[in-house]
Amino acid sequence: MSKIFRLYGEFCATHPWEVIVAVVTLTTCFLTLDKQVSPVTKKQPHCVGCLEEQFHAADMVVMTIIRCLAILYSYHQFRNLQNLGSKYILGIAGLFVVFSSFVFTSTLLNFLHIDLVDLKDALFFFLLLIDLSKAAILAQFALTASTRDEISTQIARGVSILGPTLTLDTIVETLVIGVGTLSGVERLEMLSYFACLSAIVNYLIFMTFYPACLSLMLELARISNFYGEKRQIIQKKLLEENEKANPAVQRVKLIMSFGLLVVHVQSRWSVNDEFKESINNLKDPMNCSDDTSFYGYVMRQFTLSADHIVILILLVTLMIKFMFFEPKDHLKEQLEQDVLLGIEKDIQKRQRARTTSINAEAQTECMQQKLFTNYLEYDDTINDKDTDVPRSLQQCLEIYRTDNGAKELSDKEIIMLVDTKHIPAYNLEKAVQNPERGVKIRRKIVSNQMKQRSVFVNLPYRQYDYGKVMGACCENVIGYVPVPLGIAGPLLLDDKQYFIPMATTEGCLVASANRGCRALERTGIKSRIVADGMTRGPVVRFHSITRASEAVMWLKKRENFEKIKENFDSTSRFAKLSKLTTHIAGRYLFIRFIAQTGDAMGMNMISKGTEQGLKILQNQFPEMDILSLSGNVCTDKKPSAINWIEGRGKSVVCEAVIPANIVKTVLKTNTSAMVDLNISKNMVGSAIAGSIGGYNAHAANIVTAIFIATGQDAAQNVASSNCMTIIEPYGADGEDLLISCTMPSVEIGTVGGGTVLPAQSACLEMLGVKGPHVEVPGDNAKQLARIVCGAVLAGELSLMAALASGHLVRSHLRFNRSFTGKELKPTDRSMSCQT
Ligand code: NAP
Repeated sequence: MSKIFRLYGEFCATHPWEVIVAVVTLTTCFLTLDKQVSPVTKKQPHCVGCLEEQFHAADMVVMTIIRCLAILYSYHQFRNLQNLGSKYILGIAGLFVVFSSFVFTSTLLNFLHIDLVDLKDALFFFLLLIDLSKAAILAQFALTASTRDEISTQIARGVSILGPTLTLDTIVETLVIGVGTLSGVERLEMLSYFACLSAIVNYLIFMTFYPACLSLMLELARISNFYGEKRQIIQKKLLEENEKANPAVQRVKLIMSFGLLVVHVQSRWSVNDEFKESINNLKDPMNCSDDTSFYGYVMRQFTLSADHIVILILLVTLMIKFMFFEPKDHLKEQLEQDVLLGIEKDIQKRQRARTTSINAEAQTECMQQKLFTNYLEYDDTINDKDTDVPRSLQQCLEIYRTDNGAKELSDKEIIMLVDTKHIPAYNLEKAVQNPERGVKIRRKIVSNQMKQRSVFVNLPYRQYDYGKVMGACCENVIGYVPVPLGIAGPLLLDDKQYFIPMATTEGCLVASANRGCRALERTGIKSRIVADGMTRGPVVRFHSITRASEAVMWLKKRENFEKIKENFDSTSRFAKLSKLTTHIAGRYLFIRFIAQTGDAMGMNMISKGTEQGLKILQNQFPEMDILSLSGNVCTDKKPSAINWIEGRGKSVVCEAVIPANIVKTVLKTNTSAMVDLNISKNMVGSAIAGSIGGYNAHAANIVTAIFIATGQDAAQNVASSNCMTIIEPYGADGEDLLISCTMPSVEIGTVGGGTVLPAQSACLEMLGVKGPHVEVPGDNAKQLARIVCGAVLAGELSLMAALASGHLVRSHLRFNRSFTGKELKPTDRSMSCQT
């Protein structure tokens, strides 16, 4: 049935002029046809008899009720349409259906010679019968179209979905109302005839004139693009009537239709003439005075009551129709689901449009299609079932101020409170007492502001322990960025094997480090921590250089240091002040606090301690002005010589010997080439560049990848990557290779910061250094620093070998073969990827 209706709808929408002209022509033909006697006019004129007064009183009451109900029903219908959120749809549906049906019905009445005086009551019946929601839904379907072709497709789709239901509804409606035409009450019969005709006309208009006009109007509108901006909003409200058609209801309607048909057939053909005659006598008020028998009295009473009963049945039927058969709440429930459909289509359409004009974007579209799948998987921002109409601001505030807070509010209501500044956007997680929901709502708010929901396509947010993020790692969270995690190793370090987790997006990096590990698998690496001290260097100002100098002298005294240390150490169980260094610049004084911080990297801890320590100095020098807790002599997250020279965090050194045969077989080079390259590149080259701590090939690559994997403060790769790589010939014949990496400022921890996050914590666990060391606080952080340094050594070895072998190849080409002028491309994979 749907297919037939779809084809039919498509025809109406694609041939609007033809359909409109055909309908108008047919109407005109009806008007010019020979007049027939209408079924209504077959009846005897309403007589004036003794019962008329009683009929009149009852009529008045019932008709008043009908009128009131009709008005109420119409009001509800319009309210439902209003809820769909578009006055535009309201206008289209209301105007077209009410106006056109009314005009056509009037024409038909005229044709059937029905007195127009009766139209005032008939109009109320018409209002009770009309179904504006269907017209609105068809308009919605049409409004989602953006091209001419799509308008007809959408209308066809709408007709295919609405057509079967509407057809059945019209049949049921006509048959139910048709019962009224059997009542024998002239007035009711006439109204019932009218109502039946209205229902049929209404159906015919809806199925012919309406889709054609809709198509034509939207085509014109599309040309002027006046509804363009509204289209997306309307799309959001579109309903899938498919899902709405309840099969049980449809079956009930079918059974009802059958039953009523039987009633009609029985009533019109099976009733015997005698009975008909007696009923006619009873109905004819002119004869009533003749029948004075008890039987006649009873039958008259029954007929009177029947009038009311039939009207009441009719009323109840219409009310049941209104209450149970009209789409109401489930209409709204599905709206948001359609948002997904509409927006998805819209974005895809826009992408398609872009890709046709720009060929290079073809790939992007393909990607975007895939992203959408991910979007749906990762994100339910547009899938939200939070479809309830938001409560008023006042109501929401009252709920928010209860103990349950924003937890009890819907997403929409929470967004309303954020918009009205009652909930700070940064505090959403706390307000809703559910971190993931807080993140989800923030995404909605941000996406609304961006007006580009596709931004979130590739930004997952689900299945993440935001509880660990809140107040510790990140604010204003909208999700997380997945970074690929590779593994290098095993790395033999201090006679223990480690698999090194490396989070990176640089191709070949993990492969290169892995090759380094392979070269070290027999002999391994030895590592040592030579210093441990996180630093914080506040800047203070004195009135004069004299007072500043006095402060320097005061700080150098052991007993004064002890006083400061006592205060400093009191702030933490693990932060222990070990040294103070002073750096004077005129009347400015920079005091570098150096402290062990256990297993934590320690910046927060040391900041706390420094603040307390400074209080002692302030007591001694009250005029001292503390300008900043950090005076950049720390130095944190900036290149500086002080960290390279003095060290910061863990100072580590690693060393390994690689036998000549492994240099040859695994690293594809020889010791002298490696030594040669190290001097020219890592020493001379870096010195010429004025490098500070950059006497290495690519320590930062390995440091950063491990830092990201293990939840370190990634910005601290600046100083942590300070490294000097030394390569020397080793052994009796100097064929073996000795390599060492010295890293004086590895700022690292296994406690605090991002180390607590689940994935990062898993990486630490993989290395056996998760959390605080149980026996010796600080040993885990130190061990991690060693691992980092060992991995850096492996990375250095591999890249230097790659470079050296490339150099060798070129050397061979230059010195051992005749120069062909062709540059040989490096064959080594690492060589081609590393710089
Ligand atoms: P933290 O998480 O602020 O402090 C470490 C906490 O762990 C302390 O409360 C400490 O106890 C406790 N703890 C338990 N067992 C421990 C153990 N075995 N060793 C050490 N501490 C242990 O961590 P943090 O390293 O000081 O600070 C790291 C955070 O600071 C990172 O998020 C980083 O990004 C950030 N950061 C801050 C600054 C800054 O200027 N403030 C600069 C750079 C980075 P106690 O309470 O007894 O100390």
